[in-house]
Amino acid sequence: MLQSMQATSPRLADADNADGVGAVNVPVAAPTQLIEYDRQHVMHGFTCLDRDLAPGPIFQSGKGIRLVDVEGNEWLDGCAGQANVSLGYGRDDLADVAASTLKSLAFGTHFYHNRSHVWASQLAERLAHITPSGIDQFFYGVGGSDAVETAIKIARFANITNGRPDKIHIIGRLNSYHGVSYGGASMTGDPAMWANIGPLLSGFSHISQPANGSTGSASALEEEILRVGPENVAAFLAEPISTPNGLYCPPDDYWPQIRAICDRYDILLIADEVLCGIGRAGSMFAIDRWNVSPDILTMSKAITAGYFPLSVVGVTGRVRDALAASGERFVHGVTNGGHPAACAVALATFDIMEREDVVGRADRGGRYFAQQLANLADTQQVLDKDTARSTGMMVAVNLKLDEYGDDFGVRLHEEFVRRRVLVRSYRNNRTIGFLPALTIENHDIDAIVERVAESIEATRASMGI
Ligand code: PLP
Repeated sequence: MLQSMQATSPRLADADNADGVGAVNVPVAAPTQLIEYDRQHVMHGFTCLDRDLAPGPIFQSGKGIRLVDVEGNEWLDGCAGQANVSLGYGRDDLADVAASTLKSLAFGTHFYHNRSHVWASQLAERLAHITPSGIDQFFYGVGGSDAVETAIKIARFANITNGRPDKIHIIGRLNSYHGVSYGGASMTGDPAMWANIGPLLSGFSHISQPANGSTGSASALEEEILRVGPENVAAFLAEPISTPNGLYCPPDDYWPQIRAICDRYDILLIADEVLCGIGRAGSMFAIDRWNVSPDILTMSKAITAGYFPLSVVGVTGRVRDALAASGERFVHGVTNGGHPAACAVALATFDIMEREDVVGRADRGGRYFAQQLANLADTQQVLDKDTARSTGMMVAVNLKLDEYGDDFGVRLHEEFVRRRVLVRSYRNNRTIGFLPALTIENHDIDAIVERVAESIEATRASMGI
């Protein structure tokens, strides 16, 4: 099989290619061939693995919020990839930093014997100034799932090695997402993530999300701590602004009260900022909006603007001291965690964010986006105008599916794909969400909203509404 593939596989374009594409990795296979290779050999995540499913686009390039697939079609990316391409596609400055770092040092993260490299050291110092107060110790990984895994292990290790072997239970929330590892899946509050993979980890439970606009919702955490027994609970882990729950900003009293409850029962507060951190929420970290400091902070996605895989878990000095107290080794780490190119790209990302006022732009752009959705609701009444909302560049509006029917939501998302606009769906299609590049310009927001309008129009026409 391998031999026959080698014989028929297309060559990759040569770096010295006279036509100047300048890339060693631009495939020269015909689009139809690529689509067929993908259908035959690529197993896509979060889908049914039936090979006969209709193929999705195969992207080959991007600039700003626009992507081009191998058939030459242009797509509008309203989701910044997986909410990670926070500074847009096609930035030479970030690509050049990755390339020059790789030329200097292809690999340098030997996670034992305290070996490090210049960019890991430098990034940790920078993060110590950027992250919420108290967080100044950093552990490197490659992605959000391993960051969540690391955070869970840290919380348990800190107790187990300090004579509290039963204080290992972790409380999360329903309608949440925290990654695909068994730890991340056990942490995730979504039954779809628990199905068909055998036993989950034990020692996890989930409370409800705060109801929109309500006060006092944090009491659900205290009730759960008392149910499990404070002597058994190591940590509470949650996204400061939940994505799967529909991008609602929690009530103002929520996070300060959560912090107070964690302190009362000696429980670590873990803020999962894999998605909402690094400017996405219109502040450097979402939890900064409430002046609350977690004990453990997970970061990934936008930390490299999507140009290289990286995750970082930050902890306070107090947590590090607890980890070190017993003298036991923390036996954890992944080969490519804190890769030199990733750390260098993260440093460049923070430079760009400062220079281009990216956090401020995310806040202003998000407001403009939500206003345009509210305006669209005047003519497209399936959009619930009062629900058009933004927290930074986390933008959403609800669909009135109780009135229009669940089928409308399904067909609308099919229409988005047909019209080549990438939009997120939450709460069984009851919310449509947008997590575009933080640097998106207003004219690109208009272009996305226009395609949303066309998609709604086409869905209505197909359903005779
Ligand atoms: N935590 C949160 C809040 C996320 O949104 C995600 C991914 O979307 C993860 C963890 C897992 O990150 P990754 O997909 O990089 O493993």
